[in-house]
Amino acid sequence: MFSEDKENKYIAEEAINSPSLKYNLDSVEQRISAACKRSGRKRNEVTLIAVSKTKPISMIYEAYEVGIRHFGENKVQELLEKCNTFSSSHGEVEWHLLGHLQRNKVKYIIDKVSLIHSVDSLRLGLQIEEEAAKKGIQCDILIEVNIAAEETKYGVRVEELLPLVNQLADLPHINIRGLMAIAPYVTNPEQNRMYFREMRELFIDIRAKNIDNEVKYKLFNILSMGMTGDFEVAIEEGATMVRVGTGIFGERSYIV
Ligand SMILES: *Cc1c(COP(=O)(O)O)cnc(C)c1O
Repeated sequence: MFSEDKENKYIAEEAINSPSLKYNLDSVEQRISAACKRSGRKRNEVTLIAVSKTKPISMIYEAYEVGIRHFGENKVQELLEKCNTFSSSHGEVEWHLLGHLQRNKVKYIIDKVSLIHSVDSLRLGLQIEEEAAKKGIQCDILIEVNIAAEETKYGVRVEELLPLVNQLADLPHINIRGLMAIAPYVTNPEQNRMYFREMRELFIDIRAKNIDNEVKYKLFNILSMGMTGDFEVAIEEGATMVRVGTGIFGERSYIV
């Protein structure tokens, strides 16, 4: 169905039972709690998404066993295979699409994911609206912001954000739940603090500007930012969702 994904070997990857997964998760949990405490926030204000991309389903079972209920994937095909295999026996799990989404693949995932983090164009938004309408569902989305204006990244530029929010806001089958950002790769997470802070300001701005459309904007309450290298700083700056892969599942080996 998706030719570019033929080489994907994650399903076949040897099922390694890693005694370290629980240990890793405990340590991530402790760090989340500490960051919440430092910034005067409650632990339940932050949702941890375990980013399982490239990892075998056996590890998703393991993560489930130790309490994880939110899983993040980057690719449509991989998300579908994992979700179809796993969710038949574990209904209450939520799947998050984090990676770039092509319009022709929207129809495959629209009723499988609980949140699409990577909406960055009107065209994609309209496609989601159309497919959601066909299925008679509401689709929760985040708008991805290319906060550091990096050439290599997807997402809207800061100046494009408000126009896009306004264009998508009134589509009846879409709920704009908030914003997402992938901060630059840095060795010292403090270097990303200013980007996280700017994201939080944009987030608050949008909420303030749209108080007149109260019904829709009370749903605008998710700020998805922070990964293994910088999630603590992101939480201190207001993240409500952090996406942690390596910190939970270990390093990824890409087979290309
Ligand atoms: C891979 C990925 C993550 C997790 O990255 P880690 O550094 O392994 O925690 C988070 N968000 C997105 C969008 C990703 O693609």
